[in-house]
Amino acid sequence: HGTAARLYTEQDPLVILGSSSLKPTVSNSSSAWLVQFFSSWCGHCIQYSSTWKALAQDVKDWQQAISVAVLDCAQEENFDVCKEYGIKFYPTFKYFHAHSPETNRGTIYRGADREIQSVRQLMVNILQNHTKLNWPDHCPPLRPYSSVELLSLLGQRSDHYTAIIIEEPDSYVGREVILDLLQFSGVEVKRALSSDLPLLDALKISTFPSVYLLHPNGTHTILHVEKRLRFFFSSLLRTLPGVQRKLKSSISSSSISNGGQMGVLSDKMIGDPWRDFDRSKVYTADLESALHYLLRVELATHNSLEGEELKIFKDFVTVVAKLYPGGGSVVKLMETLSDWLLSMPLQRIPYQAVLDLVDNKMRISGVFLGSELRWVGCQGSRPGLRGYPCSLWTLFHVLTVQHDTMPTALDYTGLQHEAAPVLQVMRRYIRTFFGCKECGRHFEEAAEESMDKVNNKEEQILWLWNQHNRVNNRLAGSLSDDPLFPKAPWPSPSLCSSCHEEKNGVHVWNQENVLLFLRQHYGAANLSPKYSV
Ligand code: FAD
Repeated sequence: HGTAARLYTEQDPLVILGSSSLKPTVSNSSSAWLVQFFSSWCGHCIQYSSTWKALAQDVKDWQQAISVAVLDCAQEENFDVCKEYGIKFYPTFKYFHAHSPETNRGTIYRGADREIQSVRQLMVNILQNHTKLNWPDHCPPLRPYSSVELLSLLGQRSDHYTAIIIEEPDSYVGREVILDLLQFSGVEVKRALSSDLPLLDALKISTFPSVYLLHPNGTHTILHVEKRLRFFFSSLLRTLPGVQRKLKSSISSSSISNGGQMGVLSDKMIGDPWRDFDRSKVYTADLESALHYLLRVELATHNSLEGEELKIFKDFVTVVAKLYPGGGSVVKLMETLSDWLLSMPLQRIPYQAVLDLVDNKMRISGVFLGSELRWVGCQGSRPGLRGYPCSLWTLFHVLTVQHDTMPTALDYTGLQHEAAPVLQVMRRYIRTFFGCKECGRHFEEAAEESMDKVNNKEEQILWLWNQHNRVNNRLAGSLSDDPLFPKAPWPSPSLCSSCHEEKNGVHVWNQENVLLFLRQHYGAANLSPKYSV
């Protein structure tokens, strides 16, 4: 939609409407709509856009019930439609109930407070203002259930979990969690009120909000959470065994395709035995497989390396040789490769020579890089999912943490003057060699936006963590999302509960604790050699 890209882009988790799409979108829709009519020249709208984007991200999983959109009234093609909908000031917020007739011009929201929490609660109220007749097709009931209705479920078998959130009457947590789980199958969320004494008695609950869980097999218990926050409840329910995100194939396929190259993995993974692993560990088998795949498959598609490509390859090998934790054969191999590359007077290296060196080295000195791909923490639930891209992220997280531990490791390599050498090497590698071109383009955009602002080794660790979460958010529910390893903000509350907090009703990270966690998780001491060669 042309210049709308200035404030909002297709990357944002909201819908950008225009003159021809507004009416067809908000009329006769199975969901409700909340539309911000803005003007790209209005200073307040520009300032507010980051809040609106954060709101849209916060309620992204609600969109089957209520969707968030924007429309830029400063665009000439939108003049008429903004007039028709009576927009006189910017921004104007209008909502449309589900199944609205075409004549509906929407209802203006005039709340003084436009902070995320207030708008989110407004959205819940909008949903509840529907009647039986126009209720959004995919919106579950939001009303509180009574003890009579709920107690009869106790002890019954079912094909899904039922979570009962018991809360104070003015709390929104229950309804928010119900909507957070809208895209997930295998769990149904209901709410009940703290004023329902027979229920509290029967379930022995006295603190609010609490979640009581009915298991499919008929047993039931209170769900233990470390913090009684929406994010903790939703995360826990989403990760119950058998609970899965419903995949929607409607997401634009360009942003989710893994690129043809990742299909190469499929054949190798067929028949792979499942390897049990611990999600709180990092496996050297994955790191070795990353290097194996990178050297033997990804780079092998290049007949020769010269100029800029050769330089990027050399830098990559240097960074791994200097920073790969624990010494061992990987480091020896990389050091050999690095020395060899540096000693070569050639401007252009046939890639076969690199492969020969890797093979020879292995044969002669027993220096070894696994001769097969062995995914452990990066196993997918079926071929084609996870694997190489997962291991590449893992490798770079490990390298950023290691650089922090060994600050002088890159001295005399030519990289010592860069503020964030690991990120810059990763950026150039991804841009030049990573098989998924679309991924490379996204990563380059993010790098252009903020990588140069990274000033030190701690920020380097956090930048990569944050960027990785942005990718996770974008890909959640897409085709490359493995149902067994759903994309979600990472680390989850169960991996690091002190990483999560809430501020003004909005989930926030405690970055200090995130940094501590990353140092521990990706640190040398947390590497497991299990399944490694
Ligand atoms: P991954 O996202 O690969 O994560 C691997 C592991 O890292 C996780 O299992 C978890 O243990 C840990 N982890 C998760 N989040 C974080 C975090 N924030 N910080 C630290 N550790 C974390 N795919 C696309 O479809 N479109 C893209 O645009 C795209 N861009 C990519 C860009 C890069 C640079 C890379 C390396 C990959 C990209 N991919 C993209 C692939 C995608 O990000 C995943 O790697 C792939 O879908 C496999 O996902 P996964 O479930 O194994 O988890």
